[in-house]
Amino acid sequence: MVRIHVPIREQRDASYDIVVGHGLLAELGQLVRTACPAARYAVITDSNVGRLYGEAVVARLRDAALTADLFIFPAGEQHKTRETWAELSDRMLAHHLGRDAAVIALGGGVAGDVAGFVAASYLRGVPYVQVPTSLLAMIDSSIGGKTAVDVPAGKNLIGAFHQPRLVVADLDVLASLPPAQLMAGMAEAVKHGVIADAAYFDFLERSAAAVLARDRAALERTVTRSIEIKAAVVAADERETGRRAILNFGHTVGHAIETTTDFAMLHGEAIAIGMHCEARLAEALGIASAGTATRVRSALGRYGLPLALPARVRIDDVMRVMQVDKKARDGAVRFALVNSVGEMHVSGAQGWRLAAPAESVRRALQAIQ
Ligand code: NAD
Repeated sequence: MVRIHVPIREQRDASYDIVVGHGLLAELGQLVRTACPAARYAVITDSNVGRLYGEAVVARLRDAALTADLFIFPAGEQHKTRETWAELSDRMLAHHLGRDAAVIALGGGVAGDVAGFVAASYLRGVPYVQVPTSLLAMIDSSIGGKTAVDVPAGKNLIGAFHQPRLVVADLDVLASLPPAQLMAGMAEAVKHGVIADAAYFDFLERSAAAVLARDRAALERTVTRSIEIKAAVVAADERETGRRAILNFGHTVGHAIETTTDFAMLHGEAIAIGMHCEARLAEALGIASAGTATRVRSALGRYGLPLALPARVRIDDVMRVMQVDKKARDGAVRFALVNSVGEMHVSGAQGWRLAAPAESVRRALQAIQ
């Protein structure tokens, strides 16, 4: 078992550990009892993960003499809503869970975000443990304390920062993850290589076949190194004022593609196209060294990720969505841009996000059509 510590400087007692390894669900009772003691536990999960692991998780908690109940909501981003949050909260109230209760968020990023927000608000906040089961949730959404639901005005607009007491990433559960979800998660892993670690990027470039075949050692290294990178970035900047912006590499264009396609693509797929586009933009602006975009594209391609703007997406729509995106300031859309693989761009005046001329952005989008 590997243990990665996430220090929270703003609030020392909010620091937590992420444990990564095999067979960890079997040890969940002991892990939870130590890191997040509570009188009762609400295990919140979606219908897919609930069917596969829900009863087993509750049983492991009960084996450790902990009191636990299972709360299941329907799987899918369309259920990451205020309605699901309200229903889960009401069900917990009906079960008389008190302030001495804790939440276990079991599942992908949707379950983690919803259950985290329930924990953040239930009786003004109860502690929680993240048990991520998708690759994306292990290496991305379970770390950093961001919880949220989607509302008609946009994704993740209502939520709270609420740090978990512990994150338990059991690599064994990746065996049941659908292949498309594994690939989509790898988009974030490639992003971690690009933004922070050229050697890790090299490893990902040459290990695609092993990762996609779910080779034990390849998955171990991928999940562990990605978690280390994300944890280090969020620990240094808990509230997203500075360097944490580098995690947005590929996401400005990616989010706009998700919006214009009405979220028909997986998040990782849209982000892959976004990274390809933003790497080209960085090269066109003279920021990224020549060949950077080609390397990014080639690595993403090895994981079967899409690289071109879908035919139905209109560049004007992408430009418009980016303009209203929260990253636009003084009219110019701002991007986290890459210098070279392993290193992101920072400027004294603009920090980790650079305002890019609309014409350059349009040309980068045209280049990936
Ligand atoms: P998801 O939670 O919908 O999971 C994807 C699918 O895989 C679902 O159908 C789920 O039931 C299934 N699944 C999960 N684990 C499984 C397993 N082990 N075996 C079989 N099936 C499994 O989506 P996701 O990609 O995990 O997460 C996306 C969500 O994460 C989005 O809502 C996004 O906004 C959010 N997110 C949050 C943060 C954050 O910082 N909080 C960061 C990135 C993404």
